[in-house]
Amino acid sequence: MIDSVLVVGGGIGGMTAALALARRGVAVTLIDSDPNWRVYGAGITITGMSLRAFDDLGVLDDIRTRGFVHNGMRPKRFDGAALGEPRFAPPGSPPIMYGGGVMRPVLHDILSTRVRSAGVEVRLGVTVATLDQDDDGVDVALTDGTTARYDLVVGADGIFSKMRNMIFPDAAKPKFTDQGCWRIVADRPPEIDRAEIYFGGPLKIGMSPISQDEMYVFLLEHVPGNPWFAPKMHIEHLSALMAPFGGIVPTIRAGLGEHSQINYRPLEWLLLTDPWYLGRVVLIGDAAHATTPHMASGAGLAVEDGLVLADELARTDDVAAALRAFMDRRYERAKLVVETSVRQGEMEIAGADRALQTSVTIAATQALAQPY
Ligand SMILES: Cc1cc2nc3c(=O)[nH]c(=O)nc-3n(C[C@H](O)[C@H](O)[C@H](O)COP(=O)(O)OP(=O)(O)OC[C@H]3O[C@@H](n4cnc5c(N)ncnc54)[C@H](O)[C@@H]3O)c2cc1C
Repeated sequence: MIDSVLVVGGGIGGMTAALALARRGVAVTLIDSDPNWRVYGAGITITGMSLRAFDDLGVLDDIRTRGFVHNGMRPKRFDGAALGEPRFAPPGSPPIMYGGGVMRPVLHDILSTRVRSAGVEVRLGVTVATLDQDDDGVDVALTDGTTARYDLVVGADGIFSKMRNMIFPDAAKPKFTDQGCWRIVADRPPEIDRAEIYFGGPLKIGMSPISQDEMYVFLLEHVPGNPWFAPKMHIEHLSALMAPFGGIVPTIRAGLGEHSQINYRPLEWLLLTDPWYLGRVVLIGDAAHATTPHMASGAGLAVEDGLVLADELARTDDVAAALRAFMDRRYERAKLVVETSVRQGEMEIAGADRALQTSVTIAATQALAQPY
């Protein structure tokens, strides 16, 4: 029987696990090393599988209100010409048929408000100093000098997970993919009422509504050698990257300025081999399976992880059996997202045609639409 859980890392996965466990009556402590529990200001795309998981977590209405939920994707040629008609889900379709977007700080606010009101003890500015487990529990010393014993520890501390290093010191490290992702927050003109992706240009550009008046724009650039881009060069660099594109892109380009919220991340991935647990310590989210954003499903996977973990722990008093069942429901889905995303990046670098890129995405999306 699991009565007490320590969740290490208050990102999307950690907050979901904390919330799902607390709702089942488990005493949950959530710690985050960031004393201010901030999240950087960028948008994320929410795919159908992520919307379904947010619905199962009970926050879909918040996302509809404070983010943006839309219906269909509009493919474009790099010069802005329409590439076929967008596909629309019939009215009343389940969340899996829709898409959307939200600012990360907004999502953080939605989830952290729920976490606090569910009675989770939140402690900030601390992390795990040492772990010592036996068959019945885990003794944890935190960096603030306090100690406690828990039935289970959940490592949800992201791609550069310290918890992963603690329990699997020989695990593979994140791998750079030769691509970097630029994200810009921009005003949303009314015609950007669904996601758009521009194909056939020197790089991939897309945009996704994230609220009634904002959208975010992403650019996936081939950056061999992982160069450093000094912030003072960001606008000039982005302006040059956008120059060959038509459609809405020249308007976005003209709007770039000192006020622009720009975020750059080199893309890395990691897929931990099965199992993601050792005894009573389990890894979820990016700590176990960090993906590039090509399938826009990293957040959805992290939410699913938290929900499935709570679900399996509620089914049995045998922790080992619950964690094994968790793995059986999670490994192949995470592998599909990570491998498909990395492949998408490779195809973009190689200039593969749109039909091939789209067919790979559709096949994976259909598999992910199956129950998790
Ligand atoms: C450029 C880019 C674009 C992306 N776009 C999308 C997208 O459009 N859609 C999508 O679904 N996904 C997207 N993703 C992926 C998505 O952001 C991640 O999959 C998701 O955030 C993973 O959540 P997480 O909770 O596992 O980790 P994180 O969100 O990284 O959270 C980890 C938390 O742990 C805390 N922490 C770190 N170290 C410690 C420690 N030692 N002790 C305690 N706390 C610690 C951190 O402060 C943080 O709060 C994108 C990723 C990148 C890189």
